[in-house]
Amino acid sequence: ADGQPVADCLFCKIVAGEIPATVVRETENTFAFKDINPQAPIHDLVVPRAHYADAAELAAHSPELTAALLVEAGEVAKAEGIADDGYRIVFNTGAHAGQTVFHVHAHVLGGDFLAHFGS
Ligand code: 5GP
Ligand code: ZN
Repeated sequence: ADGQPVADCLFCKIVAGEIPATVVRETENTFAFKDINPQAPIHDLVVPRAHYADAAELAAHSPELTAALLVEAGEVAKAEGIADDGYRIVFNTGAHAGQTVFHVHAHVLGGDFLAHFGS
């Protein structure tokens, strides 16, 4: 896990421009785009350009990039106009969470009240 691009990774291809996506924001180290199957009025994905399989792998390798990803999720929320009303950041990790793309991505969800979980 050194962050190098993975040939058959969907999000590496999106970052490289090989598969089209609706871009929300780009920074030196991150890329944010609209989810193709939105689960809320605003549903964006924020990824590091570097390839790590999930949030734990990213955090283990690079605390700095992990922090940058979280900061960027907040910038995406501001750019989408949902920062003040509130939003949710989700990292699905592994099978039980239903992770389907194994290039770490923060879901940024908002634009309406979201189904709550927990008490
Ligand atoms: P996961 O289930 O791994 O947490 O999230 C993967 C997300 O990627 C899903 O919300 C899914 O809708 C989104 N997704 C899958 N394929 C594509 C694609 O080709 N383009 C975009 N923009 N999003 C995708
Ligand atoms: Zn990748």
